[in-house]
Amino acid sequence: MGKLLIVGSVAFDAIETPFGKTGKILGGAAPFIGLAASQFKVKSAIVSVVGDDFPQEYLDLLTDRNIDISGIEVVKGGKTFYWEGRYHNDLNSRDTLVTELNTLGTFSPVVPENFKNADVVMLGNLHPNTQMSVINQMEERPKLIVLDTMNFWMDNTWDELMEVIEQIDVITINDEEARQMTKEYSLVKAAAKIQEMGPKYVVIKKGEHGALLFHKENIFFAPALPLEEVFDPTGAGDTFAGGFSGYLAETGNISFGNMKNAIIQGSNLASFCVERFGTERMVKLEKHEVDARLMQFKELTQFNIELT
Ligand code: AMP
Repeated sequence: MGKLLIVGSVAFDAIETPFGKTGKILGGAAPFIGLAASQFKVKSAIVSVVGDDFPQEYLDLLTDRNIDISGIEVVKGGKTFYWEGRYHNDLNSRDTLVTELNTLGTFSPVVPENFKNADVVMLGNLHPNTQMSVINQMEERPKLIVLDTMNFWMDNTWDELMEVIEQIDVITINDEEARQMTKEYSLVKAAAKIQEMGPKYVVIKKGEHGALLFHKENIFFAPALPLEEVFDPTGAGDTFAGGFSGYLAETGNISFGNMKNAIIQGSNLASFCVERFGTERMVKLEKHEVDARLMQFKELTQFNIELT
C-alpha cells in the first residue's frame, strides 16, 4: 500500500451558487484531496492547520475515511481559514467574496515522522514557501511530487513559486493560469514552456471541458463527464488532484501510460464532487458508484474507426 502525503488548506467555506447558499461548511483543498484519495488503497495523511473553532465532527469525518490527521495542527484560541465564494450563472466562474487566512497566515507545516518517507506528495494550493518546506522535510526524494497552484501565487510570489516548481514532477493548473504563467495562448506551447521550468508532466485543467496531460511530445486528453446535475464546482480541482495522486500512490507506477489512467480517475471523482455542496457527495461516495461511472467514462470516449 502506497503512502500519500497531502498538504493544503483545511477551511470553513460559505458558498453561493444559482441553486442555493450554505452557511459555514467543511472546505479547503486538503479535505477534498484526502476524500478523493480515500477511494484508493493508500495510507494518507494531511498536513495543515486549523483554529480551535474547528468542529471535532469534521476531523472525525476525515479519520472515518482512514485519513491520518496527526499533521493537522490545532491552534489554541486561533481561527480557522475562512473562504466565501459566489458562482455566476454558468458555474464556470466565481467571485471570491472573503478570504480570511487566520491561522493559515502563519502556518509552518510539520510532516509527521511516519510520513517522511511517503511515496507521493500532493502539494495543494498554498504559499510556495510552505510547499517547499514540506519537500525539505522528506527523508528521501519521494517517488512523485505533484503541485497545485493558482494565479494568486503567480502574481505575488513568482520567484518562490519558480524555486519550488523546479523541484517537482507534476504540476496541475487551469488553462488561464498556464497562459498567464508562460504568456503563450497555445496550451501546447504553454505546456512545453512549463516543462522547461521543471515539472516533467503538466496537467492543464479546463473545468467542464476536461483535462490535458503533457509529457515531452505526448499529449492525452480526458473529457469531463457531461452531467445532469452540476450543483457546486467548489473543490473539483482538488478532488481531481486527490484522485490523480491517490491512484498513482496505490499503483506505484508513474509511467505516462498510467498517468493517463490517473487523469481519468481524477476526472471521474471530480464529477461526483460537483453534484452537491462542498464535500457532501464525497463523504458518502461508495466504491461501486465510482466503478459504475468509470464504465460510463469508457463508453463516452471509446470509438472504433478502422483506418485503411
Ligand atoms: P477549488 O474549487 O478546487 O479551487 O478549491 C476550493 C477550495 O480552496 C475551497 O474549499 C477553499 O477553502 C480553498 N481556498 C480558496 N482560496 C484559498 C487560498 N488562497 N489558499 C488556500 N486554499 C484556498
